[in-house]
Amino acid sequence: MAASIKGVGGVGFGGLTCSTKTPLSSSRSSSFRVQMSVPVEDKKRNYTLQKSQEAFNAALNLMPGGVNSPVRAFKSVGGRPIFMDSVKGSHMWDIDGNEYIDYVGSWGPTIIGHADDEVLEALAETMKKGTSFGSPCLLESVLAEMVISAVPSIEMVRFVNSGTEACMGVLRLVRTFTGREKIIKFEGCYHGHADPFLVKAGSGVATLGLPDSPGVPKATTSGTLTAPYNDIAAVESLFNSNKGEIAAIILEPAVGNSGFITPKPDFLEAIRRLTKENGALLIFDEVMTGFRLSYGGAQEYFGITPDLTTLGKVIGGGLPVGAYGGRREIMEMVAPAGPMYQAGTLSGNPLAMTAGIQTLKRLKAPGTYEYLDRITRELVQGILNAGKKTGHAICGGHIRGMFGFFFTEGPVHNFDDAKKSDAAKFVRFYQGMLREGVYFAPSQFEAGFTSLAHSPEDIQKTVAAAENVLSKI
Ligand code: PMP
Repeated sequence: MAASIKGVGGVGFGGLTCSTKTPLSSSRSSSFRVQMSVPVEDKKRNYTLQKSQEAFNAALNLMPGGVNSPVRAFKSVGGRPIFMDSVKGSHMWDIDGNEYIDYVGSWGPTIIGHADDEVLEALAETMKKGTSFGSPCLLESVLAEMVISAVPSIEMVRFVNSGTEACMGVLRLVRTFTGREKIIKFEGCYHGHADPFLVKAGSGVATLGLPDSPGVPKATTSGTLTAPYNDIAAVESLFNSNKGEIAAIILEPAVGNSGFITPKPDFLEAIRRLTKENGALLIFDEVMTGFRLSYGGAQEYFGITPDLTTLGKVIGGGLPVGAYGGRREIMEMVAPAGPMYQAGTLSGNPLAMTAGIQTLKRLKAPGTYEYLDRITRELVQGILNAGKKTGHAICGGHIRGMFGFFFTEGPVHNFDDAKKSDAAKFVRFYQGMLREGVYFAPSQFEAGFTSLAHSPEDIQKTVAAAENVLSKI
């Protein structure tokens, strides 16, 4: 008997059961069965996504849109997400047994590769002592020291559980420290889903075509001023018309949430100067770029030091971690050292700290960022060359292990430029690449990520696949 969803009953995942209160339609319940692992012999058959489709149909009844984070639903590339079964190194396997070279990297964290043996071993060791203490543990201090010694702006750090939380915390902090309420953010930059940041927020919000989100009270965004990325004149004019009121500028020092966009030469320097001149703080949101553009993040790569930094993704090595940190005098405003309240049940969790520590240890080894740079350059150049050879308007770029490309002549300096990319062509390209066994982020407005586990052979295969697909679309 194949079906394991029955009416109001449980959903079986190879022995795991969860219950749902909503009756599932019979068409969804008839043939759905998901095994927790895919038998090896299944991994060689023709490309089919039948099991993923069935799993998605069932999930639609269980979770809004069938997912726990919107872009995963594949809405902008055809609406049929792929359910993964396992990951290792640079590769992923779906529940139909298809294998992919992965350039999503769990949206950034897995910079040393998926399910790295050393990380898994360290996690197993830590787990023997328990999964959560809810009291201070030494691992927190180890990771804190690593982060402080790596990231130029950070003298003290607070760990949280996600990038969203890190950005929420840092926002409250800049308001506390300056006694001002307004902030400047850039169009197409994403800083998590807290209300004040859901203004022109790029990423999933852009993918879904929502200018903002309903449910966000006007009062919470009224202090959020926006400017186009790379537009210094717009920032100057915001400072002029809001004199003495702006607490901080927050930005992605290289953007990953409008696709991949780099700062123009001097942009970050000008922002740094303007914040100083106006008594405002500068926050680099390095949730994506931290430990990815270099060991000290984008601030080390570009040589511009902000007052505060948010981190996430890589510092959790695939487990949920975020962090914010900066100058000591500012960070000492955070409770219990200071008056600004912010807390977290699982913050500094030993498992998450362990994965972060192991990941950073590996990244610190000589040559890692040079390797990321080399393979990512080959990848992007290969795709751009293939695009040009086959007559497509295409542009793109990379820094170390972060990259992106757009189906437009370019250049792309901001979100409006990014939106000129041919979305329909991206869908055709995307679907073609999936069939070739290459998994990119399912949206034109997301950056791609490589890892230390990506081999030159992975890159060659990807470029060859791109040539093949681009010649047909
Ligand atoms: N800031 C940036 C720059 C991000 O890219 C993201 C997530 N992609 C976030 C904040 C939010 O992080 P999280 O999804 O962990 O809440």
